[in-house]
Amino acid sequence: MRKKIVAGNWKMNNDSQQTKVLLDEILAKKPGSTPVKIVVAPTFVNLQAAVNQTNGSNIIVAAQNMHQAESGAYTGEVSVGMLKSINVNTVILGHSERRAYFGETNSLLAEKVNTALKHNLTVIFCFGEELADRQSSNHFNVVESQLREGLFHITESDWQNIVLAYEPVWAIGTGETATPEQAQEMHAFIRNLLRENVGEAIAGQTSILYGGSVKPDNASEIFSKPDVDGGLIGGASLKADDFLAIVNGMK
Ligand code: PEP
Repeated sequence: MRKKIVAGNWKMNNDSQQTKVLLDEILAKKPGSTPVKIVVAPTFVNLQAAVNQTNGSNIIVAAQNMHQAESGAYTGEVSVGMLKSINVNTVILGHSERRAYFGETNSLLAEKVNTALKHNLTVIFCFGEELADRQSSNHFNVVESQLREGLFHITESDWQNIVLAYEPVWAIGTGETATPEQAQEMHAFIRNLLRENVGEAIAGQTSILYGGSVKPDNASEIFSKPDVDGGLIGGASLKADDFLAIVNGMK
């Protein structure tokens, strides 16, 4: 069964006090029981506090990135073991901002994926085309390459720990959302790629999230599409009411 997931990527926002307040609000207002897995991804320095604060709730705390090496002379970086040692067992990899501003390539991401899976982390693997790719009708090719080069080398059992997040770069933080039909078209394409390359069972079980300017007023329509299993939310995840309205949009 595909899991329904709504994940908030807080990016480089919220100091420790703001993180605490936002989490308090989410904990106080979140639905008591929901089939939706709720994930929040604060910045590294606030992860430990977020894990402590959400202990006993059904909120999952994720990291926004990690290094591919297990340890070593990589000043300023954070390893998989460090995340695990504070009970962070989910990591976002391949976000378009990491690809664009920090030079993360498909092959580097393949290494990060390997390290995360080796240590049994759940990976929210992000990918998506840029505006020029869509305008030149190259968007399916770009997405296919990102998946083939970054992810399709993993073993069948590793797919249990993969969540896909299709995020067209032109829709991230721009206020411009893919139409529900555009999202469905790409998600169906991705699921078909999984079917052909990994098998029917994995294609049927893997959650594919949509990300890109999801807001309370457009979430339920996007989420109603058959191959959309939830969302990765940037801006709107920084306000508890908006984030939870989006969670409630996932039925
Ligand atoms: C994101 O950064 O993953 C994202 C989807 O951002 P936004 O919702 O702000 O477009």
